[in-house]
Amino acid sequence: MSYYTELDDDLGQIEEAERDFRELEFERNRKLANEKTRIRNEVKNQLKLSGVNSKNTPRGVKIKVSCGNCKGTFEARVADVNRGWGKFCSKSCKAKKQKYNGYLHR
Ligand SMILES: [Zn+2]
Repeated sequence: MSYYTELDDDLGQIEEAERDFRELEFERNRKLANEKTRIRNEVKNQLKLSGVNSKNTPRGVKIKVSCGNCKGTFEARVADVNRGWGKFCSKSCKAKKQKYNGYLHR
């Protein structure tokens, strides 16, 4: 086997690894996008049920959300939920879940 063939093999492996990485990244982004859509729809639903016009929601309006850790129900501001906050009923639940996931949420 010549030097150049070996080099080609190495490049092939790097390309393969990069492709795998991109696929993982794509999958992760897709899941995040799905989660955001789900939250938005949930917010819209609850606003509709409580008779609030979602296009002109006052910042202070709250909706019921189930905690991402203990599954308890609590109220969070719509503005926060839309920003991806308000997922946990308390700071300790947030901390526990973050530890579990092994990466940081805001
Ligand atoms: Zn909780």
